[in-house]
Amino acid sequence: MNSKITSQNEIVKFSLIKDVELVIKREDKIHPHISGNKYRKLKYNLIEAKHQNFNTLLTFGGAYSNHIAATAAAGKEFGFKTIGIIRGEELADKIADNPTLSFAQECDMQFKFVSRKDYRKKTESKFLAALENEFGNFYVLPEGGTNELAIKGCEEILTKEDHIFDYVCVSVGTGGTISGLINSTKKHQRILGFPALKGNFLQEEIKLFTTKDNWELITDYHFNGYGKINSELITFINQFKERTGIPLDPVYTGKMLFGIVNLIGKDYFKKGSKILAIHTGGLQGIQGMNMKLQQKGLPIIIE
Ligand SMILES: *Cc1c(COP(=O)(O)O)cnc(C)c1O
Repeated sequence: MNSKITSQNEIVKFSLIKDVELVIKREDKIHPHISGNKYRKLKYNLIEAKHQNFNTLLTFGGAYSNHIAATAAAGKEFGFKTIGIIRGEELADKIADNPTLSFAQECDMQFKFVSRKDYRKKTESKFLAALENEFGNFYVLPEGGTNELAIKGCEEILTKEDHIFDYVCVSVGTGGTISGLINSTKKHQRILGFPALKGNFLQEEIKLFTTKDNWELITDYHFNGYGKINSELITFINQFKERTGIPLDPVYTGKMLFGIVNLIGKDYFKKGSKILAIHTGGLQGIQGMNMKLQQKGLPIIIE
């Protein structure tokens, strides 16, 4: 994988933005299919897997997982077989109706669909041993791709030029990406994480991977939980795209930017602050979300 990859910063000019500068780092553009933070998280893991002579990657994810899509695409591009352990047995005969799984299958990912109960065992050695019996040797990537090597990759998102920013904002799932960002920021910078899910376990997770304390989690913008959205969020995503040309995904970056714009409106940031928001990608998820929205008769995300 390309070791010197950098992404462009784009200044946002949006009528709702006052007295502060908001810039988006377009990590979503670094690869057409291995987008954003998933590319960063895979990079050193793939190098390590090659180094250890593995030719198969095995990982875990839900029906619309960005990590599953990215791993399948990376396997195809860099010469690994890929196996996806997918949460939900009922999905086995619905691959054609699911854009994420269809894409992964086109990249030759092999699936094993498991019940939600079995899926919860995904880190147990007995469960992994049974998978090894079934599939032979493989390099394991955890759900969401977060491990030490993933964090090392995420430490490369920011460049020296980004030290001018007062705030760095990022969406949080497992906490891997924010940990890498925290490790690579300067003391004067503050990192704001916007969890895409409910619950307060993330604080402790992040502390496992970083020793700095120039960060906090803003927990008001998860929209009731992981993958949950409402029409206010869809309207925001569509308006943002229309006014800035920048597409946002409904699970992560849409919620983060809704939060940032909301905080700007409430004068959370000091006058003159420079804010950098990381666009972590995830746009492959829009299609699947739109199919669900259409079924419910709700407005969809304009692509
Ligand atoms: C996976 C993902 C995240 C969350 O990253 P973590 O390292 O798990 O916190 C954020 N944004 C997008 C678009 C993602 O796909």
